[in-house]
Amino acid sequence: MDLDCDNHIHTVYSGHADESMTVSNIIKKSEQVGLAQIAITEHSFDWHLGPRGNFQLIKNELATIPTDINVTVGMEIDPDMENLGKLNFDDFDKDEIYPILVGFHGYPGVSMGWFEKIHFTRRDKNRIYSRWFKIMEKLIENPKVDILAHPGRIIMQNGIINEFSGSVLKDFESLALAAKQYNVAFEVNETLLNNMPTEKLENSYPNVINIMLKHKVKLSIGSDAHNLEKIGKFDKVADFIKRFNID
Ligand SMILES: [Zn+2]
Ligand SMILES: [Zn+2]
Repeated sequence: MDLDCDNHIHTVYSGHADESMTVSNIIKKSEQVGLAQIAITEHSFDWHLGPRGNFQLIKNELATIPTDINVTVGMEIDPDMENLGKLNFDDFDKDEIYPILVGFHGYPGVSMGWFEKIHFTRRDKNRIYSRWFKIMEKLIENPKVDILAHPGRIIMQNGIINEFSGSVLKDFESLALAAKQYNVAFEVNETLLNNMPTEKLENSYPNVINIMLKHKVKLSIGSDAHNLEKIGKFDKVADFIKRFNID
């Protein structure tokens, strides 16, 4: 698998990326590091001009920048937590925005960000866990979804699961079958791999990748860069590719 493509890059318009992440700097940096293909995938958060406005702004800026890199403008969209399988921003045609990444940035039924320290009871954890899988399963069937962004990240936080083993892998196996069936890609996300909450989770996450490979699920590589240094910088992803001999 070539590491000359980065399918997950953010911009200043996310409101939380580094201020150097302008479209022209992203292109410059991508050229410098030898990427052949990138996807600018801003969040669907209602920030700056909102999902539609930010998308258009990025497109317009891009049109003024000459480059040999194949650049597409996609979006990273959160699921609608209440309506199974729906996206929280859905007002676009399938061919208009590519690729569509779907990623959780909050817990189902909890109004706090994924990165916050939260004390969950066992019951909360079980509820979030099964809800997450249920939502993921239905999202895969949504024809607008191309890529599952940083899959599993939300259930790794705050002790929802302790490792990717046993019944957790069985549940990922079901996701893999659905992803294969609906031709949805599973993201290998460099930022996620660099920020595993515990060693147990880190050491067992490869089991999940293995399941995706076993079922021939498409993989998508993304840095999830929020600053220029991270664009196309694939250390952990490269380890995975070597380790699993991914072609
Ligand atoms: Zn994300
Ligand atoms: Zn992202």
